[in-house]
Amino acid sequence: MKKWFAVIGDPIAQSKSPHMHNAWYMEAGVDAAYIPVHVKPEHLEQAVASFKLLGTSGWNVTIPHKQTIIPFLDELDELAEKMGAVNTVVRTAEGKLKGYNTDGAGFVRSLEEAVGTIHRDEPLLLIGAGGAARGIAFALQQAGYTKITIANRTVAKAQAIIDEMQAGRAISMQEAESTLHTFKIFVQTTPAGMTTGDFDLPFSLEKFPTGAIAADIVYNPLMTPFLLAAEEKGAKIVNGLGMFVHQGAIAYEHWLGSSPNTNAMIAHLTEQLGGK
Ligand code: NAP
Repeated sequence: MKKWFAVIGDPIAQSKSPHMHNAWYMEAGVDAAYIPVHVKPEHLEQAVASFKLLGTSGWNVTIPHKQTIIPFLDELDELAEKMGAVNTVVRTAEGKLKGYNTDGAGFVRSLEEAVGTIHRDEPLLLIGAGGAARGIAFALQQAGYTKITIANRTVAKAQAIIDEMQAGRAISMQEAESTLHTFKIFVQTTPAGMTTGDFDLPFSLEKFPTGAIAADIVYNPLMTPFLLAAEEKGAKIVNGLGMFVHQGAIAYEHWLGSSPNTNAMIAHLTEQLGGK
């Protein structure tokens, strides 16, 4: 029987996930369809119950439901439980709904694939402490990154993640600005530089070291002000598209047990977004 998958969010029309997953099904000859479904917060519980009843094989979850969906699921993967957020739901063989979070692992895959050799014991500065940063911090720790510092406008939010990780350090944006030269890997997770955004980079990059690795999880535009400035200082740069494609690929693996072609998808979406 044809399988069907979805992405739920509010809003949802902008999501590139349906395009990506349907292209992968077609390429692999998988008899499945993936649809965007607009779900308002007040309808989330009913939507989950309906999906369960209607026999979906799984779905993705985006803003603003990543945390609030948890009480409506039957089981949580260990990492999703730690993160307190779910972006992928899988219907298990027993018919239970199990929540996963593939965002952080998607970022780590994308970073390591783009950079090649990376030393996980080098000092890493994570800029921002929102939902995405949280997932990335736990996934980096799980992957073996040992020197993680988190800088955030609201330092208490960075400190809360550090406390849960039981490792690393939380600092202010001002301290990050004055100690930039002491880090080797940078991960920018605030919406600064987004096409729709209304604020600039949280600090000056005057002290940005030469020859560092700089990743930004924003992918529209592909080249953010952070990446442009880092590139000028000779950094190896990684845009946010790889994270998006890899989080989808890991969800695909959970649902279908095989891996889609991520390289071709990154090239295709890069072209769509006007990049090279
Ligand atoms: P979020 O939970 O709302 O967190 C936003 C973060 O940005 C917080 O650290 C916040 O600091 C900081 N921030 C917001 N406005 C700021 C300002 N004016 N000055 C300084 N800092 C500011 O958002 P999120 O879900 O983590 O998403 C963050 C970005 O990642 C978005 O642009 C999203 O599109 C992108 N993203 C990309 C992918 C991908 O696949 N590539 C996946 C997920 C998210 P405070 O804590 O002080 O408020």
